[in-house]
Amino acid sequence: MGCPLWVPWMDIKMNKYVEIITNLPIDRAFQYMVTGRETYPPEVGKRVYISFRGTKRVGYIVKIEDNPVCTDPKPLIDIIDEKPIFTQETISLAEWVKNNYFCSWGEALEAMIPGVLKRGKISVTTRTKEIPEKIVPTAPHIPNVEQKKVLKDIFECMDNKRHEVFLLHGITGSGKTEIYLQVMERVIVSGKSGIMLVPEISLTPQTVERFRSRFGDKVAVFHSNMLQSAKFQEWKRIRDGEVNVVVGPRSAVFSPFGNLGVCIVDEEHEPSYKQEDTPRYHAREVAIERARRQGVPVILGSATPALESYYKARNGDWRLVELTQRIEEKKLPKVKLVDMRMEFDTRVGKKVISRVMEEVLKKDIAKKCQALIFLNRRGFSTFVMCQKCGYVLKCSKCDSPMVFHQTKKELICHYCNRRFPPPAKCPTCMKESLLYKGVGTEKVERDLRKLLPTARIARMDSDTMSKRGAHACVLKDFKAHKLDIIVGTQMIAKGLDFPKVTGVGVISADSNLNLPDFRSGERTFNLITQVAGRAGRGDLGGEVIVQTYTPEHYAIKLAAKHDYKNFYLREIDARRALIFPPFTNLVKITVRSRIEEKVIKIAEKLAKLLREKISEENMLGPAPSPMVKLRGYYRWNILIKAKSREEIVKKLKTTLKGFRKGSDVFMAVDIDPMSL
Ligand code: ADP
Ligand code: ZN
Repeated sequence: MGCPLWVPWMDIKMNKYVEIITNLPIDRAFQYMVTGRETYPPEVGKRVYISFRGTKRVGYIVKIEDNPVCTDPKPLIDIIDEKPIFTQETISLAEWVKNNYFCSWGEALEAMIPGVLKRGKISVTTRTKEIPEKIVPTAPHIPNVEQKKVLKDIFECMDNKRHEVFLLHGITGSGKTEIYLQVMERVIVSGKSGIMLVPEISLTPQTVERFRSRFGDKVAVFHSNMLQSAKFQEWKRIRDGEVNVVVGPRSAVFSPFGNLGVCIVDEEHEPSYKQEDTPRYHAREVAIERARRQGVPVILGSATPALESYYKARNGDWRLVELTQRIEEKKLPKVKLVDMRMEFDTRVGKKVISRVMEEVLKKDIAKKCQALIFLNRRGFSTFVMCQKCGYVLKCSKCDSPMVFHQTKKELICHYCNRRFPPPAKCPTCMKESLLYKGVGTEKVERDLRKLLPTARIARMDSDTMSKRGAHACVLKDFKAHKLDIIVGTQMIAKGLDFPKVTGVGVISADSNLNLPDFRSGERTFNLITQVAGRAGRGDLGGEVIVQTYTPEHYAIKLAAKHDYKNFYLREIDARRALIFPPFTNLVKITVRSRIEEKVIKIAEKLAKLLREKISEENMLGPAPSPMVKLRGYYRWNILIKAKSREEIVKKLKTTLKGFRKGSDVFMAVDIDPMSL
């Protein structure tokens, strides 16, 4: 575009100065001057081009002022947008994110918009045509007694235009999604809009389908592997008021609705609501804050609420609403624990699938029913060990064993994707004595095919599901009963609602228990509950077989009994005793560098500095991170316990200002980390 000769808005008496935020990790705005020669008039929420320290950058207008604050403000290069991309509300929400999650205002703002807008592009020309799927419209179910009561409470809150946090604790298959749909319906009827967060769209395709079938083209959908241009189109439909429901992962919490009526967070306990790089926000917390500011309710739903959430609900900070029965009085499936130590003692040769599980699967197939087999590790053998010297083949860039993939005939590092062909000899003692150990989904699939030669089996993990649409395709075949069994990773753990699934198998319930993390018991409990919840959703009953080496562990025992409350009581005591969340906020500071000595030196220097501000008992470390080496970087952690998120963020921002660490050392501050 050439230089416009006449700018229509130049005549109007305008304010002459704007406060600009950029995405740099700098905690302040800079003032620029409006010249009147820009393409569009200035408005809060629009993007601009500025010259900053000699380079042209994109910035965002957060304020318009009449007077200069410094002597000689630089002029804007141009104003990019005709219409604002942020509202006053989202700008101030970003400010809240910055104050709570250790990032800059601009970094928080950029988390809210599609990628193409960050690069300053004015418009996206390619209009992507998503192939319109046939959507069969569905009508709402008539709520049962429990659902009615929950809906009454939520509606009453909505009608009084009040903010409240509802924790909807409902067992799997109790009709939580139906509640979300009916709440959303009411929001739409009242002329408002609603945000529906789901942990990961590709893991919950049926939820999306149900929203589409109820609300048709009023729904915008985001998923993480969507094309940038498609994301932008959906975002624009929301901004321009063409849709009033959005279903999406964590970033959908920032959807630019002007008249929000509700935020719903499904599977609120899911760690994927936490963003793992800057800004490291938690979408559940943002949803609550946004709803609070708008004076509207938030609904957090789960069969296994996060300990932190259930604690708040029991304490009366939030409102606990419950669904204790499955729809139409369907029973929760029986869960049987198989002690794999006994299994190996009484059986010749190690088998991945126990006799009990084998029997159940054979019965399912004979009855023309279906089954899901869950194992949270992909590949064939999960590690390769030398029988002579005990050496385990590890990735040279990560502190992690190499996983053998039979289909690709390669050893692959699951952290950095480094791969090479399996060696014939042990790299340390040079003997031909390598053993392939540990079980991944490929091995389970092979064994199942041997055990059940007539069964139609598919594997669902990120290796088989890398192609766009592969996931939906397998689920479609499963629904049409062209498949009998799916073996899979967490992809099959949640959200699936197939009435013919009577058998569910968990190959190894212990894999999470051994992680050095205070949430490992909680993760184990959640996973067993979620996976078990896939069974017996129709009229055919259900049976769940959980294989474990520690059947006596309370997380496994109580999950088998579907006993969330007792699990909570047990776990909350441990948290209280150790002062872990919800009894404190955690902060994890990770220092990393390719040079090991530097990491240690800087981590220690940092800890010393922090000790001047933070009491000894509230600081742990510095210590090597559980994954001490990752993608070529050595990592050390410092953990801080803090009463208030906002206070610790403020304290850290002032303390770390001017901290010298060298350009080859990196530092990340994670508030409320999901892993240690
Ligand atoms: P959840 O989200 O708690 O797992 P869903 O909302 O998916 O439960 O409900 C489980 C099944 O019961 C779904 O197939 C849903 O369509 C159906 N359902 C939900 N509520 C009702 C109702 N009131 N009457 C009949 N069927 C219902
Ligand atoms: Zn690696």
